[in-house]
Amino acid sequence: MSLTSQIKEFALDLGYSKVGIIPADGFPEYRADLSNRHEMYSFYIKGPARPLVAAEPRSLMPTARSIITTVYDYSQKSFPKELTEKIGRVYQARCYNAPPERINGVRPQLMREYLRKLGCEVGENISLPERLVAAKAGLVTYGRNNFAYADGIGSFIYLTSFVVDKELEYDSSTVEVSCPDGCSACMKACPTQAIYEPLKLDPRRCIAFNTFMTQDRIAGSRIEPEIREKMGTKIHGCDICQEVCPRNQARLTAKLPDDEFLLKVAQDFSLSQMLTMTDEFYATRIQPMMYNYIKEKKYFQRNAAIALGNLGDLANVSDLATAMKDPEELVRGYAAWALGKIGGRSAKQILEENLSRETSESVKTEIREALLKMI
Ligand code: SF4
Ligand code: SF4
Repeated sequence: MSLTSQIKEFALDLGYSKVGIIPADGFPEYRADLSNRHEMYSFYIKGPARPLVAAEPRSLMPTARSIITTVYDYSQKSFPKELTEKIGRVYQARCYNAPPERINGVRPQLMREYLRKLGCEVGENISLPERLVAAKAGLVTYGRNNFAYADGIGSFIYLTSFVVDKELEYDSSTVEVSCPDGCSACMKACPTQAIYEPLKLDPRRCIAFNTFMTQDRIAGSRIEPEIREKMGTKIHGCDICQEVCPRNQARLTAKLPDDEFLLKVAQDFSLSQMLTMTDEFYATRIQPMMYNYIKEKKYFQRNAAIALGNLGDLANVSDLATAMKDPEELVRGYAAWALGKIGGRSAKQILEENLSRETSESVKTEIREALLKMI
């Protein structure tokens, strides 16, 4: 059996749904697109992934010859409704940045080990443009919403590539948009108009970006009030532009088996609990699922405050009052915003009391702005 066939069979045996291979020639079109939109993507360009460098894989691995790319179908089981209202499916599926002891971390590790056993050198930490790689390998086509779609699955897929030093047999490209003529359901459904033209997303307006990239060490922790209002109850990711897509309906309407892990998580999950959570709750109930981007509990608390504000339910005022005493000023500030959004006499009184004892200027500003909305 050829080296290519051995690699592809092993990937399929590991549970990947599709596998393809392209030469490790670099992605000048990706570099150009990212450079042209430098302002929108500066958080990513300047970040540790160094995408402009990685887009030339040989600059990081001079021996690179081939890229093996895989599709993992993470929507084989159903997602509880209580969670999909708040958390994107890919994060529920625990695919991104999975630690080595979790199944989604084990799979790529086993793939790397097998490639090494076959005599390949395997690149480490090369952040490739995964959607473009998979399209060049014929595994996916694009949607106008920027997502990659695999035949027979849809866009609820996770792509992983492996750079190796061996010449292999290469697949044919499907770099194209395969949406029905005239469809723009994703662009119409996006609450923030983040998809400003087909295949073009402004991440700064995207709810998903705002739930997890707005951290001090990445893009700053402020979420603009205009975006907060449109986040609804999303606390980690957003699937709206994929949910409305006709190319996903077969999977979304299929009767899928329950995911027992997610059912258990859903049982214990509530926004108010997240808002006022202890370190123990964070470590045992949040991190085992949402370990990918957000590394500090205060960002989940901020997102929970926004979601509770958008729910507008007076029953959540007392939890937001508790959050106004949180040691993190980020949490206090967004709890103030949420109280202003909910409104009512009790919320106003809590804001006024906290204004007189608050020491943080940024929280005081949030409280004053919240009170102004209540006049
Ligand atoms: S993920 Fe949500 S906010 Fe982002 S583009 Fe899609 S619908 Fe819009
Ligand atoms: S909603 Fe329509 S335009 Fe958007 S990705 Fe799906 S098929 Fe394409």
